[in-house]
Amino acid sequence: MRFIARHRKVLKRTIAVVCILLFCYFAFLTIRGNGGNVKSQVYSGIAMGTAVKKTIYAKDTTLLNQVDTLIDDTLKEFENQTSVRVKDSELSKINRTYVVGGITKASDNILDYLALELQIWRETEGAFSPCIYPITALWGIEDGAEKIPDDTELQKRILASDANNIELVEDGIVFNDADMSIDLGAVGKGAACDLVREQLVQTDIQGAVISIGGSILAYGDKGDGKDWHIGIQDPRGKTGDVFGIVDTDGNMVVSTSGDYEKYFELDEKRYHHIINPITGYPADNGLISVSVVCESGILSDALSTACFVLGLEEGMKYAEEKGVGAVFVTSDKEVYVTKNLKKKFRLQSDDYTIVKR
Ligand code: ADP
Ligand code: MG
Repeated sequence: MRFIARHRKVLKRTIAVVCILLFCYFAFLTIRGNGGNVKSQVYSGIAMGTAVKKTIYAKDTTLLNQVDTLIDDTLKEFENQTSVRVKDSELSKINRTYVVGGITKASDNILDYLALELQIWRETEGAFSPCIYPITALWGIEDGAEKIPDDTELQKRILASDANNIELVEDGIVFNDADMSIDLGAVGKGAACDLVREQLVQTDIQGAVISIGGSILAYGDKGDGKDWHIGIQDPRGKTGDVFGIVDTDGNMVVSTSGDYEKYFELDEKRYHHIINPITGYPADNGLISVSVVCESGILSDALSTACFVLGLEEGMKYAEEKGVGAVFVTSDKEVYVTKNLKKKFRLQSDDYTIVKR
């Protein structure tokens, strides 16, 4: 008692400080809990020849439409620079006008994308090629063609897709074959996610999930500081059906490559748009979908395509080497998950089974 009397002042002050701290803590939890009045809006549309869905979260609702437009503008500009579908894009012009052995000038963006693609070409020993366009154009799967190409022509196109015949120099590209065509299709959606993120960090939005075809950007949070739960398309379900969920923080991209995106069937066989550059035929190794999760959008997109062509064993090894998370699905509906993603992946469909190893 005498102790309390002697230290009354100090005790009072301590109790006051504790009360203030507790008050601040509960106020913080309340704001976090209701997202500090964060509002969200979903926008759906088409860009870069694919479906785009944007869910944007912001406290200031006037930002929602502004950021939607900002993203559309970013995607349009990117498409006009890099798409082989756009006749006057920088890339189409490069493909049309290059002179064998000369230096064809290219913007830093295109040179950066190409440098990464060439690295993956080397690392996968040709399973992934930035020059695949002559083969994909011959198959015409994107344009609705439904026949197997003539073999003599296919063999010519395989030679034209050999990325050993391009070199990057200071500010341009040297082509050493007359029939080449660069195609950024395997990295475009992921690279676009990176560009969108660069724009979003300059805004005051709280968070967003932007899906561009097979690539999904998770940015920021909903105002609750929690992870995003990103659904992965069921490769044998309807569009929008999910077979698994990946939990990610707000600085990740999840890219998926599958045999269900663009394909035709002939004699009960599926011919899809992910080509093995060595055989010239759609990759046929028992995989039906590969998802790759990492910070870099372009890398996640490139690796999902590369691992799809490599197949389960080599693809799994490559993904682990690159330090990315990956989910592989086989035609038997078996699911294989890299070690670093095991705790963050959850199955959502009874049709699939996770194989532990
Ligand atoms: P999507 O474009 O449907 O999201 P992907 O990211 O897997 O799917 O990219 C597939 C596209 O990549 C094809 O349409 C084609 O343009 C290109 N492509 C196909 N096979 C390869 C390959 N082996 N290496 C590099 N690019 C490829
Ligand atoms: Mg890809």
